[in-house]
Amino acid sequence: MCGIFAVIGTSNNAPQLTFKGLSDIEYRGYDSWGICFSSDDLFKTIKNIGFLPKTFPEQLSQVSLGHTRWATHGGVTIANAHPHSDCNNELILVHNGIIENYLELKAGLRKHLLKSETDSEIAIHLIEDEYSKSKDLSSSVSKVFSKFDGLNAIVVTNGTKIVACKKGSPLVLGKLTDGYCLASDPNALLPLTDKLIFIEDNQMVVLNDKLTISDLKTKKEIQVKFTKVIWDYASSTLQNYEYFMEKEINEQPKVIETILNNSAVAEKIAKEIKSAFGTYFIGCGTAAYACLAGTYLFSKFAKKHVNFSIGSEFNYIEDYLTPKSLVVAVSQSGETIDTIEPVNAAKAKKCKIVAMTNTLGSTLYRTADYKLLLNAGVEKAVASTKAFIAMLSEMILLTFMVAGKKQAGVEVLKKSALEIKNILKNANLLDELVNKIAKQEHIFCLGRGLSYPVALESALKIKETTYIHAEGYAAGELKHGPLALITKGTPVIVYVPNDETRDSILANAKEVQARGAYVIGVGPDNNPVFDFFFKVKDCGASSVIPHTVFAQVLAYKLALKKGLNPDKPRNLAKSVVVR
Ligand code: GLU
Repeated sequence: MCGIFAVIGTSNNAPQLTFKGLSDIEYRGYDSWGICFSSDDLFKTIKNIGFLPKTFPEQLSQVSLGHTRWATHGGVTIANAHPHSDCNNELILVHNGIIENYLELKAGLRKHLLKSETDSEIAIHLIEDEYSKSKDLSSSVSKVFSKFDGLNAIVVTNGTKIVACKKGSPLVLGKLTDGYCLASDPNALLPLTDKLIFIEDNQMVVLNDKLTISDLKTKKEIQVKFTKVIWDYASSTLQNYEYFMEKEINEQPKVIETILNNSAVAEKIAKEIKSAFGTYFIGCGTAAYACLAGTYLFSKFAKKHVNFSIGSEFNYIEDYLTPKSLVVAVSQSGETIDTIEPVNAAKAKKCKIVAMTNTLGSTLYRTADYKLLLNAGVEKAVASTKAFIAMLSEMILLTFMVAGKKQAGVEVLKKSALEIKNILKNANLLDELVNKIAKQEHIFCLGRGLSYPVALESALKIKETTYIHAEGYAAGELKHGPLALITKGTPVIVYVPNDETRDSILANAKEVQARGAYVIGVGPDNNPVFDFFFKVKDCGASSVIPHTVFAQVLAYKLALKKGLNPDKPRNLAKSVVVR
């Protein structure tokens, strides 16, 4: 979380580049923002709360640091917005992460004037103390960084040099024709350069007229080697769409097509799954639901047991892993710390690791033995749509490959891509439903079997974009408690595919209707129990895909109806790099 951008070069456009870079990764945090640049031997800082403005006034400087914040310590105020400075405004810092021992470290700073409530600010005052003694920025930053507990990245400047260190939080370095830039995310760098280095944990980068990268522990210099990264610019711009969420929903048929045209890595992973002593799918949020769907798919279509765990819980149940276990870690950003930490623990137990991620070069991507790129293109809306559909598509493809029936998997995926197009064509049919339920406080989503993860994902999408309290349930669980929450008019979405769950879920629909619910049926066939019906053609194992797209479109339309920005839900950020 949080977006860092820093640049040093010989042109005077550093503040503008910083502003543009931050705009490209604002999805990483948008509580507040700040840009600092050196001007006439002084630092000038411009900060504000809320989203970045549309434009930034022209400022001339060769060095600049910027930050978009996702607050962890201290409220959303201008004082707490980064960058932070030392007492004399001679050193500037931006920080991503949490300095877990900051209170202990703060105790040694009594003589300093602290201006914020953040953990971050103590770092720049500690560096100030070291720097006043040694006048050596690199050694001061490395000394202070090594005292931090937790997962952090910091970037510091004295106006002539930039020094950055990282452990846990991502940092990527880019080479410009006349300098260097650093960012939390390659999406901020790729419009400027295709030459990148993904900085590893416990490394320090020093930038002035030359570049050095060294190991923080051994102090040894590391050979500098830039990787050329190819980037699809169109996928990161809005084009003619109003919001990224709408654009990304519309890109989904293409995402499926790309997956079908790039299945070589999936073939290798399918072989690993077949021979593994146990396969564990792990992920968080939306990715967790894709993993859960994987367990149903593998059981039903490949007669194979695979395990599922939420990433942040896997640490507590991985004692039984052996070197024969396979861990398939699923993360859009490839930086989700709740997924990366258990992956590291599994790696220490010599398990094989598969990364299913949308981000080339991300931490998860670099860590894994097998790298399954989702190839969905940049996903900028915080509420994931196309990355989730890409994950589901890979799960379906892997399942059918393991079953030895790849072609059947290809066929159902093609069908689902066509059905997404149909849903998008008929999206206006949802307007009546949107008008009917937009003012509701609670929405329930029910599914059985493969539709259970769809119900969970639907509720998550509605929560994220509309702030309506939405819950997904395995429909059979309803009578064990949640039924108490159904009152007259409560909207209940029921997924009714043409499979073995059909009769039971229809019975559950009857049960909620008997308690006054407004029943919204989704599936191939209408039924008298539905108060509202949205037709989705039967796509067999892939029905989960168009069913989810129904919920994505509904969540998007509800957000617009409520006057909310669907791309930037409150309190959230993309790429969750804190525990
Ligand atoms: N812990 C810091 C703060 O609350 C950094 C948060 C971030 O990574 O955006 O300001």
